[in-house]
Amino acid sequence: MLLTAELLLFYQRCARRAFLDVYGDSREKEPESDFLLKLHQDSRSHRQSILASHTYHQPDYNRGNWRAGMHATVELMRQGVECIYQGVLTSEWTPGVTLLSLPDLLVKEPGNSEFGDWIYVPQSIKLGKRSKLEYQIAGAFDAQVLANVQGAWPPTAWLLLRKRPPYAVSLEQRMPQMHQMLSDCISMLRDRATPEVFISRQRCNLCPWYGSCYRIAQQQHHLSLLPGITPNRYEQLRAIGVTTLEALIQLTPARLTPLFGAEMAEQLITQARSTFDDRAIFRASLESQSKSSHVLEIDRSIALRNSLDDRVELTPADLNGSSGRDPRLSQLTVLARSPKFQDRIEIHFDLEAEPELDIDFMFGVLIVDRDRQTETFYPLVAEQPEEESQIWEQFLDLVWQYPRAPIFHFCDYEVKTTSKLAKRYKTPRKLWQPLMSRFVDIHWWTTQTAILPVESYALKPIARWLGFQWRDASANGAQCICWYNQWLETGDRAYLDAIVQYNEDDCRATYQVKEWLVKFWLTADSGPTKEM
Ligand code: SF4
Repeated sequence: MLLTAELLLFYQRCARRAFLDVYGDSREKEPESDFLLKLHQDSRSHRQSILASHTYHQPDYNRGNWRAGMHATVELMRQGVECIYQGVLTSEWTPGVTLLSLPDLLVKEPGNSEFGDWIYVPQSIKLGKRSKLEYQIAGAFDAQVLANVQGAWPPTAWLLLRKRPPYAVSLEQRMPQMHQMLSDCISMLRDRATPEVFISRQRCNLCPWYGSCYRIAQQQHHLSLLPGITPNRYEQLRAIGVTTLEALIQLTPARLTPLFGAEMAEQLITQARSTFDDRAIFRASLESQSKSSHVLEIDRSIALRNSLDDRVELTPADLNGSSGRDPRLSQLTVLARSPKFQDRIEIHFDLEAEPELDIDFMFGVLIVDRDRQTETFYPLVAEQPEEESQIWEQFLDLVWQYPRAPIFHFCDYEVKTTSKLAKRYKTPRKLWQPLMSRFVDIHWWTTQTAILPVESYALKPIARWLGFQWRDASANGAQCICWYNQWLETGDRAYLDAIVQYNEDDCRATYQVKEWLVKFWLTADSGPTKEM
C-alpha cells in the first residue's frame, strides 16, 4: 500500500474521498469543472512565482517510477545541492505500507544528516492563504518521510502560502496528530469497508466523486441532505439510533434538547418534517431574532409594500390577534400600507465578482414596475476590470431614478459591496448611505420566516423548489468567474452573454422567492405550499 501526503490530506476532509481515491471506479469521477481548472492554473502561477526566486535541481527519472525518483533525489541530497524541486522520497512505515512523499521543495540548511553537515527541510507550495490544519498535517507527513531518509529531523516543514509569509509547521504539535491520522487511514484502507456518504457543501465542493455520492445520498434520503445536520450532529443522532428522516420526525424536541439545545432540537425536527411532507412550515420564533422589532417591522413592510393584495382587509380582530391571523402579520400589513411605502416599483439586485482581481464586474438590476406591468433588466458589465467605477456610477444613477423603491437581494454580499465600493471610489455619503435602508435581504427573511423542504437555503435550491429554472442549469457563481476570465483572455462575447443570462436569472429567481415569501407571510396559518 502506497500512502501519500495528498491522500492523507483528503482523508482529513473525508474518509470516503480517500477510500474512493484508492479503491473507487475512476469512471464514476466527474470531469474537472472550469473552476477547478482555473484553480489549477492559479496554482501553477503561484508555483512559478515562488520558483522564480529559487535556483533548483530536479531529479531526472521516468514519471511514475517512484523507486527511480527516490534514487535520483537521494543522489542530489548526497551531492548537497542547495534546493531540490519535486523530489521523491519513500519510506517503509509498517509491513506492507510505504509512505511516498513528494515535497515541492527540499531546501538545504546547516545541520547533521547521514549525507554530511547539512540537512534538508521540506517546503510545500499551497494556493490557499490560510495555514489550514490539513496542510500542516501534510507538512508533518513530508517531514516524517524526510527524517527517515536523511536520518535527521528537519526543524520544521514550511508552507508557502499565497500572499502570506511562509508558515512554519510546529512538528512537535502536529506529528502526534499526523501519526494518529495515518494509523486511522491505514486501518480504513485495510478494512476495505466503504465509508458512509455524508454530503457537506464545504467538503464535497470540488470533489470529483460528488456526482456519485450525491446520487447515493438521494437514494438513501440521507440525513446529511437536511440543512442543519452537521457531521457532529449526525454522529450524535446515530448514537441514539436515528439515521432516517422517518426516525427524526418521530422524536420530540425534548428528546433532542439535551444534545443540541431546545432551539436546534425544534429546528431539526421541523426541518425533517418539512422535507418529509414537502411543504413550507412557518417559523414561529420571530421575536427571538436578534434584530430589533422596529427594524423587523420596517423591513418586512418594505418587502411587502409592492406585493400586498389590495383585497386583504384588516379588521379590529386582525389587529388584536383574535382573528387567528398572527397579529404581527396584521401589524406589518398596516405598515406596508403607510404612505411611506406606497411606491409600486421594486428593484432586484445581484452582483458577480472576481475575487482574484478584487473587482465586481457585473451589477444586474431588475426593475419591476407593477403599475406599468413591466420587468426591465439592466446588465451593467465592466468589460475591462478598470471599468468597475463606471458600472458603480451607472448603478447609483439607476437606483436613484427610483428613490423610494426597495432593493431586494439574496444574502449580504450586495450590501457589503455597496459600502466597499463607496469607500473605494470615495462616493459622497448621500449617494450610497440611504441605499442601506432600502436593501432587503430575501435570504435573511426567508430563513427567519420559513422552514423549507430544501437541501440548503441558497438561492438555487429555494427557487428551484418553487419551480424556477435557470436557463443554463449548470451555471453558477464560480463558473461566472471562469467565464469572465475567459472573456478577458479571448474577447469572445459569448462568455459575457452567458454571465448576463445567469445574473438575470438570479435576479428573477430572487424576485420569485420574494413574491412567494410575501404570500406565505399572508397565508401562513392556512398551510401554504409552493403552488401558491
Ligand atoms: S463527494 Fe463528499 S462524501 Fe463523497 S467522497 Fe467527496 S467529499 Fe466525500
